[in-house]
Amino acid sequence: MIIAHTINEVKEHVIEWKKKGLSIGLVPTMGYLHEGHASLIKKARTDNDIVIVSDFVNPIQFGAGEDLEDYPRDFEADCKLCTSLGIDLIFNPNPSEMYLKGFHSYVGVDTLSAGLCGKSRPIHFNGVCTVVSKLFNITEANRAYFGKKDAQQLCIVKRMVRDLNFNIEIIGCPIIREEDGLAKSSRNTYLNATERAAATILHKALTKGEDMIRNGEKKSHTIINEIKSILEKEPLARIDYVELVDSDELQPVDTINGGILCAIAVYIGKARLID
Ligand code: AMP
Repeated sequence: MIIAHTINEVKEHVIEWKKKGLSIGLVPTMGYLHEGHASLIKKARTDNDIVIVSDFVNPIQFGAGEDLEDYPRDFEADCKLCTSLGIDLIFNPNPSEMYLKGFHSYVGVDTLSAGLCGKSRPIHFNGVCTVVSKLFNITEANRAYFGKKDAQQLCIVKRMVRDLNFNIEIIGCPIIREEDGLAKSSRNTYLNATERAAATILHKALTKGEDMIRNGEKKSHTIINEIKSILEKEPLARIDYVELVDSDELQPVDTINGGILCAIAVYIGKARLID
């Protein structure tokens, strides 16, 4: 596996691979890899001749007072996992390599970034779109893989690719969970044992909402109220949002009719968990 820290190193390899007509799959990550990331990587491995994993804690997607400094990092462990999964190249640049002095160019998808996580993280998705655009250009990937756990991010990246005519296919992958239902996340490491136990409430609440919809409940506010009441029973949980939105435009729906996304963000201790 090639370990690349600079953009030029990646580009040199990409030129060779493209000359040979090989397809390239990209899995963008912020590192501290777990089985959720591994599932994306395995899918990329199946679909492509070459797989690139980017491992970069992207500073411009963190707002002031967020967890940029504390975000967990273990590049050695990430390399081991990627080697075991047969990755061709892991790209681990420094922030100064990605953002040169005088960097002033940003990519954003407005309406879709305004709601859900965008309300409490106003610059987040512009940071994501910008780094993802850079990674698409650097790797010239044919396909890129994103998890459905970050459903708003997936929707925004797909829209950006469509609107700006990026020559890449975006593939959404299923949410990988712990046995007790908690979605795997690098941020789960912030939880102590008591908080970890409390965090199972997210999946319990969402499952209840899902059951209500399957049983024919159509009124969003009834479902949202039920999910909130389950979350509120957990003293360690502090709700950021519980929303039912249409899966294309991410706008709140009153009545369930067609494809919807139920998205929640909940603080447990200092961890902000989304599902
Ligand atoms: P991150 O390193 O948290 O930025 O995540 C990198 C990619 O992995 C994103 O596309 C995430 O949606 C995806 N991902 C993170 N956790 C999971 C999970 N539990 N299941 C599936 N995909 C995930």
